[in-house]
Amino acid sequence: MSTDFKGMDVVSIRDFSREQIEHVLRLADKMVPIAKGDERSVMLEGRILGTLFYEPSTRTRLSFESAMARLGGRSLGFSEAKVASVAKGETLADTIRMVDSYCDLIVLRHPQEGAAKLAGHFASRPVINAGDGAGQHPTQTMLDLFTIRKEKKKVEGNNVVIVGDLKYGRTVHSLSEALAMFGAQLTFVAPPSLQIPKEHLKAIEAMGHKPKISTSLEDAIKDADVLYVTRIQKERFPDPSEYQKVAGMYRIDLNMLKQVKSDLIIMLPLPRVTEIAPEVDSTPYAKYFDQAFNGVPVRMALLALVLGGAK
Ligand code: ASP
Repeated sequence: MSTDFKGMDVVSIRDFSREQIEHVLRLADKMVPIAKGDERSVMLEGRILGTLFYEPSTRTRLSFESAMARLGGRSLGFSEAKVASVAKGETLADTIRMVDSYCDLIVLRHPQEGAAKLAGHFASRPVINAGDGAGQHPTQTMLDLFTIRKEKKKVEGNNVVIVGDLKYGRTVHSLSEALAMFGAQLTFVAPPSLQIPKEHLKAIEAMGHKPKISTSLEDAIKDADVLYVTRIQKERFPDPSEYQKVAGMYRIDLNMLKQVKSDLIIMLPLPRVTEIAPEVDSTPYAKYFDQAFNGVPVRMALLALVLGGAK
């Protein structure tokens, strides 16, 4: 597969080979001083990013906007469906057709799985999926891989324990397949009702991996090199009483960390509700705020590649 991403839609992590992801991560490394504001760039001067967020977001939207601004470009868009014409009944297709003529690239977050793919059909500009319901979150995966590679030197060979809502958690759907592609070992910890969907398990097994499936975080955490914590996705439960049964089931606190490897890293795409106790934040294991920053250089790299500002 080529590393020329100009004009490409970024819908699923399956759109990328390992080599292509590594290309993004290498460019992201170079973007770090600009992402921090230590160096200036005008690489995307005159370019406009459209950010259409039909679901809440803090990090994804703001890091995309920061990434665009750091490269000299500008952003427009909305962060709530109720302020856009969708509140008057406008279809996604019509909104996309319109925004397509106002910007050079569209970043879309939408509650429906498949929305980004659909948007890609209606847009002549590239579309980046910033989360489609319980589907995929490919740019989160890239920043997750960037974080693991930075903290652990490489992704390959790490024992990654992924805990929480593996059914509805889109970050996990993208990340687990990418981790398998990069040669990490996987353990999925969740209540049976929220375990990783078969579709993803099959894709991982087809790459020659045999992930462990467990309900016990206490068992799994001892051998973990990376602990990837996810929020129980309350908003995706059709029945609120089902959410109540699993809410707060896994919580990482200092007690839980007594038997872990000394170089364990804990990641979390954020937001957190009760998944990680605040006292864990000041331990050397906690990498989730660094992970959130890494969204900026990674998204800078992706914007530059898709808009053709970088090779
Ligand atoms: N921010 C992530 C997402 O949009 C994770 C989460 O919401 O729990 O998928």
